Amino acid sequence: MPLIDKFGRQITDLRVSVTDRCNFRCVYCRSANPETHMPSGDLLAWEEYERLVRILVAMGIRKVRVTGGEPMVRPGVEDFISRLKALGVQDLSMTTNGQMLAEHCDRLVAAGMDRINISLDSLDRERFERITRTKMFDQVIAGIDAAQASRLRPVKVNAVLVRGINDDEVEAFAAFARDRNLIMRFIEFMPLDADRSWTRDMVVTGAEVHARISAHWPLVPVVHERSETARKFRFADGRGEIGLISPVSQPFCGHCSRIRLTADGKLRTCLFSKEDHNLRFLLRGGASDREIGDEILAIVAQKEKGHRINEPGFAPPSRTMVSIGG
Ligand code: SAM
Ligand code: SF4
Repeated sequence: MPLIDKFGRQITDLRVSVTDRCNFRCVYCRSANPETHMPSGDLLAWEEYERLVRILVAMGIRKVRVTGGEPMVRPGVEDFISRLKALGVQDLSMTTNGQMLAEHCDRLVAAGMDRINISLDSLDRERFERITRTKMFDQVIAGIDAAQASRLRPVKVNAVLVRGINDDEVEAFAAFARDRNLIMRFIEFMPLDADRSWTRDMVVTGAEVHARISAHWPLVPVVHERSETARKFRFADGRGEIGLISPVSQPFCGHCSRIRLTADGKLRTCLFSKEDHNLRFLLRGGASDREIGDEILAIVAQKEKGHRINEPGFAPPSRTMVSIGG
C-alpha cells in the first residue's frame, strides 16, 4: 500500500535519525548550555530501525538519509548502512558534520552508501570554531577530501547562513564549489535552534544568495525533481553547482515527499509537526508488521499541508533540530 497523504503527495523519502547526540555544538542548532539527551533505553536498536525501514520500503520508500544529531557518533552505523542497502533502499545517503568522515569513508562506501552531505558553515578556521564550538576544521576538510576521493556521488556541502555570522562568505562558498567541483548548498536558518534565538532578520534568503553569486558568475538553472528541497544551479562558465534550500522564504511543502523517524522511534510528518507518533511503543508492544504498517498509513494520511513559519501565531515545535534529525 503506497504512502499517500490527503493532499495526494506520495511519500518516498525517509530521514532516519540514529542519535540525538553530537560532538559539535553549532550555534544555530544546539545550545552552549548542558542539554538533556534521550534516555539510552528509548533509542531504537538497529534491529528496530531495520524492521521499520523494511515495512516502509514495502510501502514505497525509495530514499533513506541517515542523520542525527551526528550519525557517525553512534557505533555500528556502517553496519546499519549495509543492512539498509540489503533492504533494497535505492538511494542511501547520510548528513554528517564530517568530523569522523575521513576515518569512516571507505567503510561507508563498502557498506553501500550512495552519497553524502557534509556540513561546513565557514571557510575561515576561527569562525568555524566559533560556530561549531569545536576545533575540528581540519578534520572536516579532510572528510570532504575523503568523500571527493571516494565513489560517493554527488558530494554536497551544506552551509546554514545566519545574518551577521557567516553571510559574508556566500561568494567564498561559491568559489569553493567551483574550485572543488562540488555542490554547495545554502540553507536558510530555521526556527529549530535550541537557544530559540531565531529571528526573521537572521535569515539570508535564497534569492539574496542567487543575486550575489550571479553578480560574479552567471548561473544556469539545473532541472530537478519537484520534491527536491533545493533549487539547483550550475555555473555557466565552469564546474561546480549550487543549491538553494529556502524553507522560510520559498516553502516547498506542496511537493514534500518526506517523513522523519526520530532516534526514539517517533514518526514525524513534518520538521515543524506539533506532534510526533510513537512507533517505538508499537514495536516494543508486540504489534505485527501489518499493524505497524496500518498505523503508518494513518499517520501519513494526516501529514500537514505545510509548515506555518510565515503565518501569524507560528510557534516552533518543542523538539529542536538535533532531536528531530535534520
Ligand atoms: N550533525 C549532522 C550535520 O550537522 O550535518 C547531521 C544533523 S544536522 C541537524 C542536519 C542539518 O541540519 C545540517 O545541515 C545542519 O546544518 C542543519 N541545521 C541544523 N540546525 C538548523 C537550523 N536551525 N536551521 C537550518 N538548518 C539547520
Ligand atoms: Fe551537531 Fe549537526 Fe547540530 Fe551541528 S548541526 S550541532 S553538527 S547536529
